[in-house]
Amino acid sequence: MTGTQRIRVLHIDDEDAQLVFAKMFLEEADPRLEVASFSDAVKLLDSLDDSVDCVVSDYIMPGMDGMELCRRVKGRVSVPFILYTGRGSEVVAEAAFKMGVDDYVRKESDPSHYQLLAKRIMSQALMYRRLGEQRRYQERLEQLRGNLGLLSEASNLRGLAETTSLIVERVFGYGRCSFMVLRDRKMVPVHTNGQVEFPELDFGGVDSTRKVIDLGGGMVVVPLNLGDVHGAVVIGCPGGVSDQDESLLETLGTLVSQSLHRVVQTEKIRASEEQFRSIVENVQDVIVLTGPDGSITYISPSCRGVFGSPPEELIRRMWGDLVHDEDMDKLETFYAKSLRGEGGVIPEYRVRCGGEERWVSHSWSPIVKDGEVWQVVSAVNDITWRKNAETALQRSLGELEQTNKELNDFTHIVSHDLKAPLMTIESFSSFLLEDYGDVLDDAGQDYLGRVMTASQRMMGLIDGLLTLSRVGRKNTGYAHVDVSELMVEVLEDLGGQMDASSAVVTVGEMPVVVAQEVWMKQLLVNLVGNAIKFNESKPPRVEVGYRDVGDHHLFTVTDNGIGIPESQRHLLFRVFSRVPTEKHYPGTGAGLSICRKIVESMGGEMGVESKEGFGSTFWFTLPKGRAPEGAAEVEAEAKAFEFQ
Ligand code: ADP
Repeated sequence: MTGTQRIRVLHIDDEDAQLVFAKMFLEEADPRLEVASFSDAVKLLDSLDDSVDCVVSDYIMPGMDGMELCRRVKGRVSVPFILYTGRGSEVVAEAAFKMGVDDYVRKESDPSHYQLLAKRIMSQALMYRRLGEQRRYQERLEQLRGNLGLLSEASNLRGLAETTSLIVERVFGYGRCSFMVLRDRKMVPVHTNGQVEFPELDFGGVDSTRKVIDLGGGMVVVPLNLGDVHGAVVIGCPGGVSDQDESLLETLGTLVSQSLHRVVQTEKIRASEEQFRSIVENVQDVIVLTGPDGSITYISPSCRGVFGSPPEELIRRMWGDLVHDEDMDKLETFYAKSLRGEGGVIPEYRVRCGGEERWVSHSWSPIVKDGEVWQVVSAVNDITWRKNAETALQRSLGELEQTNKELNDFTHIVSHDLKAPLMTIESFSSFLLEDYGDVLDDAGQDYLGRVMTASQRMMGLIDGLLTLSRVGRKNTGYAHVDVSELMVEVLEDLGGQMDASSAVVTVGEMPVVVAQEVWMKQLLVNLVGNAIKFNESKPPRVEVGYRDVGDHHLFTVTDNGIGIPESQRHLLFRVFSRVPTEKHYPGTGAGLSICRKIVESMGGEMGVESKEGFGSTFWFTLPKGRAPEGAAEVEAEAKAFEFQ
């Protein structure tokens, strides 16, 4: 049936005059009526289709009477059938209604009765049309309901878009449809099978509070709104939508909105779960979820490396089962604190990895829900390599200390033992020279003199070695040392050397430092002594200076001496190394290596800057206010230091 207001009537009668009058008067009585006249029942039946609004039939006709015709018409379409007869009676009327005839109108000779017939036709036709519309609405509603299950099955946007298009096509018969969602303030089409019907749609100015919006031009929009999720179904329906369809589309809109909301929320949850999962599965730490009883409910795949098993083998086991027996007591903090809803850290304990053990550090944080600990999230870090490295380092340090000690002992013992025979050689050489000097000729005396010089030199070397082996052997004897006072002693000790060369030594403002006083003095004696010794200037000038450099003291000893060639500077601090010069300067070459060892044992550094022929500056640093690690507490007074 079309939406037009024309009422199509098929009229059959065996009298042509009747047909002509009826058509004329009926169409005049109501201009909406459009009467087609038939004298042959078979032809009328052939013309029957959904566009017919009413059949008006004579009762007695040759071939097929009105009753039979009614039966056949009703068997084909749902249309009102009016029996229009001049020969009827109450009995005929009753039989006619039983046959399904909808109305019964008597023919009159007065043309005014056509008015009545026209009214009866209109009322029947409109009633049937309404009933038909209601039936169709009902059918579509049923159809819509039948398809709703599909909406709830859609698990993503694309699926939902496809399902909606399918329903629009199946239930409403509209073939063109686009599904859009609001993203970044724009309606973006969701591609269904690669087809987008209305990609460039402008919703500006559209009243979005309405449930179905007619955009004109054969296009309607069904807005989808639920919470903060918005979208639209855009449908192309060239003939426009009927009121019934509009109401069905509203229902569809409500249901699709719900599904859209569900799908968007599910996608959001899925995306955030995905994000969480990829973080958890890509961190190096093993991420573990345990219930309040310690049973594992989740463990990240990196567990293979630490426990030697995949997650599926560890889930549902107790965390304690994975921990080394001897370290179980360390887990007590974990259980106790997490039950109280507190997080914490266990710096290290051992876990089982197959037959082996590995070291881990464990930090955790409980998830509290409704005041109860629901789960505990832990990050377990494999620190086995660090522990192994620490153990190896500890072992090497121990070995190194032992070797060092043995070496020092060896140097000490050997030096001591060497000294005794040397002293004998030197004493007896001097006795020989004193008592038997006149017996020996010049060459003999020269030889003996050389023996004595060599043995004295050797004695010097051994003393140097002994001193070197002692430096840093005892990390005690640290005290607050006033370097100004110490310098007075240093200059007293060097008095002879200074007088001999008329050296001028100036000392700047000096600090109080934490140091081993005896070694500090030795250091300054060596440096100032060298500055006077390796000096040909008249007079030799030496300047002892100090600067505060943040957390360190910086001392300098500057002279106007012979300087050191650049090529030799790197050798200076090696034991017994000396720079060859034209003039012979007494010494053994041990002094500077002793100096460096003293400085380093007190936690400082040492170096030299020099210009050959102009002078040198030896510098060293000392950490401020603290003894190096491992040293005994700083003593208020310097203790007597065991020197010999
Ligand atoms: P020694 O003084 O017994 O020779 P050192 O270890 O004290 O041994 O010094 C090593 C060498 O460094 C010296 O032989 C000398 O050549 C050079 N040297 C040390 N101090 C100075 C200085 N102030 N000026 C020039 N050369 C120096």
